[in-house]
Amino acid sequence: MSNKDKSKLKIEAIENGTVIDHITANKSLHILKILGLPNSDVINVTIAMNVNSNELGRKDILKIENRELYHTELNQVALIAPNATINIIRDFEPVKKYKISLPDKITSIIRCTNPKCITNYENEPITSKFNVIEKYPPVVRCHYCEKLIKTEDIEKQFE
Ligand code: ZN
Repeated sequence: MSNKDKSKLKIEAIENGTVIDHITANKSLHILKILGLPNSDVINVTIAMNVNSNELGRKDILKIENRELYHTELNQVALIAPNATINIIRDFEPVKKYKISLPDKITSIIRCTNPKCITNYENEPITSKFNVIEKYPPVVRCHYCEKLIKTEDIEKQFE
């Protein structure tokens, strides 16, 4: 069996749902955590880790049955897997396919790592807001205190 056939076996078609492809290798579990999956509504999640990819060398793939991802969720995925592509599947057919990309601004998904930042005040905390400095790998800067949040610090928040 050729390698191409083998990878096809792992990525069987789903009837309805979302396939997230081109995930940075070994980051698929982070993404499940971000998306809160599996849960009581979404039980069937298939993970292919560390499979061959022409573009990335190695990648992960997630198949989420009976669930179409929302746009806000995709922003979150982009923080961990900036190269990911999304396929929305209905009746075994991909009806939407697109590459995600980090927006220029990120609101509330991550925390500022500066404990003195206004967004971390115990009383009346303000919603966090970041300007995206680098998209790949993701680096953001706090809108309020200008603290730079590096890729490792972003990933730590989803571990
Ligand atoms: Zn801050």
